[in-house]
Amino acid sequence: MTARKSLDHYRRIVIKIGSALLVDRKTGLKKAWLDGMCADIAALKAKGVDVLVVSSGAIALGRSVLDLPSGALKLEESQAAAAVGQISLARAWSESLSHDDIVAGQILLTLGDTEERRRYLNARATINQLLKIGAVPIINENDTVATSEIRYGDNDRLAARVATMTGADLLILLSDIDGLYTAPPHLDPDAKFLETIAEITPEIEAMAGGAASELSRGGMRTKIDAGKIATGAGCAMIIASGKTERPLNAIESGARSSWFAPSGTPVTARKTWIAGQLQPAGELHVDDGAVTALGAGKSLLPAGVRSIVGHFGRGDTVAVIGPSGREIARGLAGYDAEEARQITGRKSTEIEAILGYPGRAAMVHRDDLVMTASVKTKAERQKKDEAHA
Ligand code: GLU
Repeated sequence: MTARKSLDHYRRIVIKIGSALLVDRKTGLKKAWLDGMCADIAALKAKGVDVLVVSSGAIALGRSVLDLPSGALKLEESQAAAAVGQISLARAWSESLSHDDIVAGQILLTLGDTEERRRYLNARATINQLLKIGAVPIINENDTVATSEIRYGDNDRLAARVATMTGADLLILLSDIDGLYTAPPHLDPDAKFLETIAEITPEIEAMAGGAASELSRGGMRTKIDAGKIATGAGCAMIIASGKTERPLNAIESGARSSWFAPSGTPVTARKTWIAGQLQPAGELHVDDGAVTALGAGKSLLPAGVRSIVGHFGRGDTVAVIGPSGREIARGLAGYDAEEARQITGRKSTEIEAILGYPGRAAMVHRDDLVMTASVKTKAERQKKDEAHA
């Protein structure tokens, strides 16, 4: 087994599970398989790895509960099937995980929740909180309200967005396909299996056929799309077959799977995005203490902020200005300008009394902050002045 397929080597793993693994057309939910999957998840969590699940299967399960005929469903039919199936799906996860005393939390996302910054921050905060308390987020698209223009449409890409949103370092796509071949293997007997993909080049993209299995929407194409999203943000990806009883265990034991190398680090990708915002919506003027704290990689607390300039909403990009008037950092505001003004210079413990709700301790969280200039602390400046004196 190579280190990159040794799963406890990763810090945070998003596992996407295709409908065909979880749901049998005739018999419904595959309970034994789910129990095996949950045992694998419990083993990973026991080793300190954060696990998030993107589970398909709502529509397939709803179909089976409602006994709908096979063939394509109309939009409202699949939405109704999802509404019925999602309840069973979430309950099944929750029950199976509880065997190992693990709590599940259901998150249903629509496209805007990852594409609009403010909603993105909200969804991320909830998911992070679930992870913090040791729960396993069970995520799916909110199929009951998503219509074609506003949907991800497939859980491969949704899982990749979840991976980038949560700073995961590995995305595992489990389906009935065991990895990437140079051509669709069922069509081309000479197709060769690819164990490692260093970069998703146009040639690699061309290898992905369009075929999807009957129960799910994603084929190899959406898996490669997911790979581009994930690896571009510094997250590795594994495509593996989930058809065995303990699929994660199988990956670690050397079962065939394709590994896609990450192309950057999650921090750089995310921070590049923040630093690359063209026009900060406002400014936070900070004191020397804050400059030192930011230089040491800490979050910006309200106590270190002296004044606020501009009108911005929570999640907008703001520039952090040091006492010398120079921009030292950029970040995503944890509060809108109005609230930020009220808590400026105050201790984080006072936030609740001032705003009337607990709020976040940081004005800009360090995960949302990127230094745009190298900073010297007051002590360093004094030292320099003394040396010159
Ligand atoms: N969200 C869909 C479901 O739960 C599955 C989408 C997919 O298969 O990619 O039924």
